[in-house]
Amino acid sequence: MMILNLDKKERITLLGLGLSNFGAALLLKSLGFSNLFISEASSADANPFFAELKGPGVSCEFGGHTDLVLERTSLLVVSPGFPPQAPIFHKIQQTGIPVVTDIELAFQAFPDRKFIAVTGSNGKSTTTALLHHLLIQCGLKASIGGNIGIPVCKVMLDRMDCDFHVVELSSYQLEHAQSFRPEIAIFLNITPNHIDHHGSYESYTRAKSRIFFNQKPQDTLVKPVTCLEMDPFISKHNGKKICFGFDGGDITYRDGLFYERGRVLFPSEGVHLPGRHNLENIMAAMAAALSLGLEAPDLEKALITFYPLEHRLETVREIKGVKYINDSKSTTVDAMVKAIESFGPSRRVILLAGGHDKLTPLVPLTAATSERVRLAVLFGEAATRFHDFFSPLCPSVTTDTMEHALDEAAKAAEPGDVILLSPGCASFDQFKNFEHRGAVFKELVQNLR
Ligand code: ADP
Repeated sequence: MMILNLDKKERITLLGLGLSNFGAALLLKSLGFSNLFISEASSADANPFFAELKGPGVSCEFGGHTDLVLERTSLLVVSPGFPPQAPIFHKIQQTGIPVVTDIELAFQAFPDRKFIAVTGSNGKSTTTALLHHLLIQCGLKASIGGNIGIPVCKVMLDRMDCDFHVVELSSYQLEHAQSFRPEIAIFLNITPNHIDHHGSYESYTRAKSRIFFNQKPQDTLVKPVTCLEMDPFISKHNGKKICFGFDGGDITYRDGLFYERGRVLFPSEGVHLPGRHNLENIMAAMAAALSLGLEAPDLEKALITFYPLEHRLETVREIKGVKYINDSKSTTVDAMVKAIESFGPSRRVILLAGGHDKLTPLVPLTAATSERVRLAVLFGEAATRFHDFFSPLCPSVTTDTMEHALDEAAKAAEPGDVILLSPGCASFDQFKNFEHRGAVFKELVQNLR
């Protein structure tokens, strides 16, 4: 289904009106489509985007999805993450109406623009932002958008001037990609996630693989040296491949130095992204940047001016030799492990963890905790279960709120310690979302004397 072949009067339905479909609607309007139908579960008043869209050529229903969604619809643009189990979605599939998400729309509207797309289970936002930073600092015109919180279709309209569009893509966006074909696809890693949505790990992996599905011999796929789950899909890929990883590959890292095919690129000294996982993100971003012909000395200069994104191992402040780190984005045990491992092998970490308990096993934390955590201060709904796990491994206390946890940590801290908020839990027992939790933490830290 090529959208540009549609008559401008044909009806296009937008199922869900969040940030992505807001961008999609703006793009469709600007392309001249004059029969858009929006179906959204929230009320019109509660929706922050509708006011800017309403007018001639746009009709809508709010408060739920009725069969109007299906009526005379030639194309359906679905919000990424819209539950496939929803009855309306089931009906859509039965009618055979073509379904796309915003990235497919953006690509079909501007097939000659150059996309660099990033996906993976972890590290997408950091890698996307880093690569965008590298390109800009090296003098290229590049935009950033997608799952990072900037609607990709809006970026296409606002940034006509760009040489490259760096886009972060989720499995939700990719599952409905049909012709999308980035010049460079970066596939970071894969671990089981969003199985409730995709139905199985295999179909989650398949959705992710659509990032490189349409690539041609002149296109590039940046991928880890080993990634067994991806092999069945990668075996059908006929573009160029650049591999990164600690165990060899085209771009690698050893003993403080980055290498490209055996040639030293530059040292990692001066890099502000902590942790081994971030070295992987750096290798992936550099692989893409080098493939565009950018030079190592320029990339080194650009790399050392990049800082962690907000709420991801973000240094908030140092007070009397104690560093305060905000890793509020950490909502899984895996993220906690990565965070703790990012701070030296000696026991200098005072860990603040807890929140809404997802009841996932804590065992993967054992080694990192035993080696590195001096004190665990646990708060929120998960405090008791976490305390039961941590107390045999390190000193551990429970409190009610994050604020009290921070007080306990600050009292116990000695110069050289790191006070690390890496909750490993969802935030909604006490906060609106992880951003809110991180913002409160930073404010509390700023107020410490
Ligand atoms: P995403 O956008 O995929 O959620 P982020 O860049 O926002 O990724 O990082 C979120 C968290 O994921 C980090 O705080 C860290 O715990 C973990 N993470 C980041 N990069 C990697 C990586 N390459 N491998 C494993 N975990 C990672």
